Amino acid sequence: MPYFDLDQTLSEQDLALKASAAAFAQGVMRPVSRQLDRMTPEEAIASQSPFWGFLREAYRLGYHKLPFPEALGGPGLTPLQIQIVMEELAWGSFGLTLALNTSLDAAVAMGGTREHVEQFTIPYCQCTDASYIGCWAITEPDHGSDTVMPGYPTFRDPAIKANCHARLDGDEWVITGQKSAWVSGGTIANRILLMCQIHPAQSGHAGSGMFLFTLDRPGVAKGKPLDKIGARDLNQGEIFFDAVRIPREALVVGPEAYEAALEAHLCLTLPMVGTWATGLARAAFDEALAYAREREQGGRPIADHPTVQVKLFDMFRKVEASRQLCRAVFVHNWGSPAERRAIEYAEAAKTFATQTALEVTSDAIQIFGGIGLARECVAEKLFRDARSSLICDGSNDILALSGGHRIARAHPRCYPAR
Ligand SMILES: Cc1cc2nc3c(=O)[nH]c(=O)nc-3n(C[C@H](O)[C@H](O)[C@H](O)COP(=O)(O)OP(=O)(O)OC[C@H]3O[C@@H](n4cnc5c(N)ncnc54)[C@H](O)[C@@H]3O)c2cc1C
Repeated sequence: MPYFDLDQTLSEQDLALKASAAAFAQGVMRPVSRQLDRMTPEEAIASQSPFWGFLREAYRLGYHKLPFPEALGGPGLTPLQIQIVMEELAWGSFGLTLALNTSLDAAVAMGGTREHVEQFTIPYCQCTDASYIGCWAITEPDHGSDTVMPGYPTFRDPAIKANCHARLDGDEWVITGQKSAWVSGGTIANRILLMCQIHPAQSGHAGSGMFLFTLDRPGVAKGKPLDKIGARDLNQGEIFFDAVRIPREALVVGPEAYEAALEAHLCLTLPMVGTWATGLARAAFDEALAYAREREQGGRPIADHPTVQVKLFDMFRKVEASRQLCRAVFVHNWGSPAERRAIEYAEAAKTFATQTALEVTSDAIQIFGGIGLARECVAEKLFRDARSSLICDGSNDILALSGGHRIARAHPRCYPAR
């Protein structure tokens, strides 16, 4: 059910978008997500899996291309509308919402050349049958946090050598190495935005590039889909590159602009993850509230007991605070050119909302009592999904470290030196 929105200025169109996303989340995403949660990672992506029916329906409705302008074949929504719809979808499933957004390569291509846009963005926006699935791969077996800390001193450490690198050979790049099992959509994607080192000896991870290419090439191999505690409805897996040759033009961002481009990218993805975590937390709150009104102990619904009321209020205020922060950051960063986006706010939104999701889903289990621990209870799944959100897109600890480093050193925009 769509939530009451404190923002009473939402238009008829905003409310209609919210209502249809809520119906899709409740009618399609939540049931499919719960089915996939019980399957093995292999079963979840087998041809008869309900995952494919969900994905095709989501593409048909255009939920895979929410951020794209009409000129490129997208729906042309405002940043506020994108945020509202994404929170609703994540109410249905955090993992499936993430699965719908692994093709952010096309978003990067918006800043690329006309050829990138024609080859990737427009076909993606025109796709209605889920035949175009993208992924973005940055994490490596030996480098997770190291790769998502632009601006932090270790990011430019030339001693840090990546597991995957690119070298120019005539008119082609040759990619060799491996990306880790955490790549979302890794075993099912047919397009990739690959972040990998080009000049480590000069500038460590800052000497990397972003490459956009199709994965149907000799030398590309995929690992097994990853088995994990939460977001089990999200496919993840390794990708191997054995001297894979791609055209010179596949480079979207070179080492000279890589660090700034990665920061600009994180400014968009972090409040997005925070928005999904808000939807997930709200789902747990809704389920716990409904149960508390039904379940009787001491001769009356447990919702009538003051300590349960206090817990419900605590959950409510955290979800609302999470939405207000994520929405404000999302709207600012998605509505601003790269140089005006605010990374420390993006880090604050992601860490706050995912920590909130963990606490609210845990409180939901407490309200359900014993049944909250059982696989049949939705709160149990939401708790496991929330747990994985604290590591997704950079662990909360390193995002705090990175944001704290910037703020402590007198950030020129937010906290200039007195
Ligand atoms: C649901 C989900 C989806 C994901 N999707 C993708 C994807 O699509 N593409 C992709 O490439 N990756 C993806 N990831 C990977 C994710 O970005 C990484 O897992 C994350 O960056 C952490 O890296 P790591 O797992 O290697 O942990 P590590 O970097 O090894 O960190 C281990 C621990 O050490 C701490 N730590 C690390 N460095 C420091 C430091 N300098 N100071 C203090 N503490 C430190 C961390 O906080 C953490 O607690 C996804 C992960 C999840 C959970």
